[in-house]
Amino acid sequence: MLLKNFTQNTWVEADDSGLEIFDAVNGKPISRISSSGIDFSGYVDYARTVGQRNLQSTSPHQRAAMLKELASSLLESKEIFYRLSTLTGATRRDSWVDIEGGIGTLFSYANLCERNITDRNVYIDGNAEPLSKSGGFIGQHILSPLQGVAVHINAYNFPVWGMLEKLAPCFIAGVPAVIKPATQTAFLTHKVFEHMVQTGILPEGSIQLICGSAGSLVDHLDYDDILCFTGSASTGAMLKSNTAFSERNARFNMEADSLNCCILGADVKADDAELNLFVREIVNELTMKAGQKCTAIRRVLVPEAMHDLVIEKITARLKKTIIGDPSSKLVHMGALAGLQQRDDVFKKLESLKADCEVVYGGNDTSNLQLHEADATIGAFMQPTVLSATNPDCTVAHDIEAFGPVCTVMPYRDTTHAIRLAKRGKGSLVASIVSSSPEQIEALALGIASNHGRILVLNQRSAEDSTGHGTVLPNLIHGGPGRAGGSEELGGLRGISHYMQLTALQAHSSDIARIVASS
Ligand code: NAP
Repeated sequence: MLLKNFTQNTWVEADDSGLEIFDAVNGKPISRISSSGIDFSGYVDYARTVGQRNLQSTSPHQRAAMLKELASSLLESKEIFYRLSTLTGATRRDSWVDIEGGIGTLFSYANLCERNITDRNVYIDGNAEPLSKSGGFIGQHILSPLQGVAVHINAYNFPVWGMLEKLAPCFIAGVPAVIKPATQTAFLTHKVFEHMVQTGILPEGSIQLICGSAGSLVDHLDYDDILCFTGSASTGAMLKSNTAFSERNARFNMEADSLNCCILGADVKADDAELNLFVREIVNELTMKAGQKCTAIRRVLVPEAMHDLVIEKITARLKKTIIGDPSSKLVHMGALAGLQQRDDVFKKLESLKADCEVVYGGNDTSNLQLHEADATIGAFMQPTVLSATNPDCTVAHDIEAFGPVCTVMPYRDTTHAIRLAKRGKGSLVASIVSSSPEQIEALALGIASNHGRILVLNQRSAEDSTGHGTVLPNLIHGGPGRAGGSEELGGLRGISHYMQLTALQAHSSDIARIVASS
């Protein structure tokens, strides 16, 4: 089946037979995908006209109610999405993060809007600033929705969450979206999108879908539009060089590669509970979604004296990991999203071997023991652990193998651990596992400027911890430098990315009237 594109309220088929997409587990063809011959400028024009008009004629609370209704409807059909998600190599646990995590983000933004936003399309931002002695003239920042289109380009690893986590704040802000999923897993995004359209809940023009190449879409963007991109740094850099951003100053939001680290505090001893928490977190991040998470732990920083013990403990747990058909309840880790994605991980693994030693796993699939699956057909690989015994001079700070791969590296002291963490050149998230308040403080303050999120884990927080890799709608997701230099989500902050901040200077009664009439 050739996936259709949804533009101008119509399902449109490409004018060629498209590219074939295969099941990650058994290699059978699933669908074909193409956007050849599609009118890309039509997407943008329609969103700016019909989409804008329909969205702006609703209020934020009405949009929140629509999001809730949509989320409930998606939940009712979730088993259809779970079944399809298996074809991407995902286990039930992996799919839960993608499917119900995405739907949960819709609920979360709807509730956030109802609780925190007055029912006007223009919001007050911060307090009024007195600008005159009499108080007759004040300054007030206001946020108003962009009058253009939001283009959402997503990576292949979260076909559902990736679409919904961008859509939720965008829709609440009142900006129409054009969604472009990654080719490899677009069949699942397409199914969820199709369901969204069939419900008839969202206003016409508020969402459109491109399956296949984005064609000339980005060339049509202007100053009042925004591109929110998730993917590799190289694609991001190429997109950023488009004149839409370099000349017309359209907004550009990027979530890219990230060499996230997890640091074991120098205070942790061999028989401390924190060591087990640390190892559990590493193994979880390696195996969940077969390591295909932008937040997964890539660099494992441990005190020198703990290096061998940590590897021993991680290895012992990995030996118990059952890999295979993700639809089986016995399986802990499924396949990567496709053979091309696995080849890419193997290539990166070869580069990592330049100065790191493989201590578990690797890219040899000939002896891979799988549960009800065949390694010669499906995109399976072993979770792989490397060791970089010269951590000051290793490619592990630069190469992201986007799969079940991490590198353990020893550090001498806290200053050294901070220096190594910063070698990621800006990351989405870091974890600190320690029970020492002094150690936690030194590490957290030392690395905060290089990270979008920091999780502190110990016996005090373990029971309630949301985990290293979990992205939450009320906290920001993003990071400086290599991670893209942008942010998404973060509660109300996420909505403001789709709005223009304006400083209004006027008499207070005039400001009140402007806001009230929006
Ligand atoms: P990718 O190859 O960079 O692709 C990302 C998206 O960009 C896909 O939808 C892709 O479409 C699209 N794209 C490629 N070339 C384009 C062009 N010329 N114009 C417009 N769109 C274009 O990345 P990926 O392989 O899907 O994902 C893996 C990478 O994403 C990893 O490096 C990972 O770190 C990163 N990632 C980051 C986050 C985060 O939140 N920071 C989350 C997930 C993944 P096609 O698939 O059709 O080529």
